[in-house]
Amino acid sequence: MNRPIAPSPIAATTVEVNGRSYAAPKRPTVVIIVDGFDPAYLEHGIANGTLPTMKSFRENGFAAIADCSMPSTTNTNNTSIVTGVPPAIHGINGNYYLDSETGEEIMITDAKRLRCGTILGALSRAGVKTAVVTAKDKLLKVLAYEMEGISFSSEYAGKASLKENGIENVEKLVGRPTPDQYSADLSLFVFDAGVKLLATVRPDVMYLSTSDYVQHKHAPGEPEADAYHQAVDKTVAALVALGATVAITADHGMNDKSASDGTPNVVYLEDELNSRFGAGAVRVICPIADPFVRHHGALGSFVRVHLLKAGGDVQAMMAFARTLPGVELVLDKQQVCKQFELPVDREGDFAVFSDRQTVVGARREDHNLSQLAGHRLRSHGGLGEQKVPFLLSRPINAEYQRRAKAGPLHNYDIFDFALNGVE
Ligand SMILES: [Zn+2]
Repeated sequence: MNRPIAPSPIAATTVEVNGRSYAAPKRPTVVIIVDGFDPAYLEHGIANGTLPTMKSFRENGFAAIADCSMPSTTNTNNTSIVTGVPPAIHGINGNYYLDSETGEEIMITDAKRLRCGTILGALSRAGVKTAVVTAKDKLLKVLAYEMEGISFSSEYAGKASLKENGIENVEKLVGRPTPDQYSADLSLFVFDAGVKLLATVRPDVMYLSTSDYVQHKHAPGEPEADAYHQAVDKTVAALVALGATVAITADHGMNDKSASDGTPNVVYLEDELNSRFGAGAVRVICPIADPFVRHHGALGSFVRVHLLKAGGDVQAMMAFARTLPGVELVLDKQQVCKQFELPVDREGDFAVFSDRQTVVGARREDHNLSQLAGHRLRSHGGLGEQKVPFLLSRPINAEYQRRAKAGPLHNYDIFDFALNGVE
């Protein structure tokens, strides 16, 4: 039949975004962010046979371990991934921040702090058919920033409209009602929607982002964690069967932060600093804080310390913070921004990282741990959660193999690898 195929205008499209260029894909490409997918889940699932599709990527496609952006939190990393650049450029350095001008503490639920465009937005405006499905609605405004196409959250699936979301009747498409906000199904709904969209609308580029509800509760090896990741793996197989190139990474890893008796290892840093340097000396901001997530008590392994009074001794406070058990790294504003590519104008006076077994918080009264409801505290935010899987369903070319080997490889390189590096 050898009929010549007319060159597609999409295939010739390349967009420039934040200093990097991205080619429109030759075949549908799906980038999946498995929220909280610590490499330990991947290793465990490959070993016990529950992740056969991801195992096949390691054998026939590409598999590596990448670094996520710091702090290892959800908004920061989803933003890095859709923009292809670190927080120093895109501006989103956490879920929660202290506005230095007003003194107000603000939760990020929109794109106001975003300082650059996204890969998805640029591709969509160049005529590439794009779709974004996310578990949590608060991420949607950043993920679908200036993007023409389909975008909705499973949290508000029932409210999706053609005008706002480029799609309606999502519950009918997926075949079930909008899931509970606090459930594994909030994420599984994203995957089912992705498979349905690929089979019907067939976007050229699709971004699927989940929630870490399961990973906060269940360690690798627990049946609930196995069942969830196995369902993820089956979705990935379905996407591959529909002809897609599939790329998988995570926003951050996840670690157990409790002592052997099950109680959380917490440093209440604001209490410690204010009792040493005087009441009201500092305010500690936890960029992991998220009222939509009730199972980590706003406790993670990275905080920003803001001095509230003129003349405070930053060096003395940093030296004191270093002596606290479970604290592994303390850096001043300039150091932390240089080392982790963070925006200086949005940093605290100094930053404190706790180790893999420990979380760091503000005041005892800021953290409600009753909501753990008997579970061990599992969380993220620090250096112990910086490593994430980086998987592609297809092999990559020699140039990208060389780049991956030379490093550093970041989770925000995933679009570059999926769109430019796949053979
Ligand atoms: Zn996350």
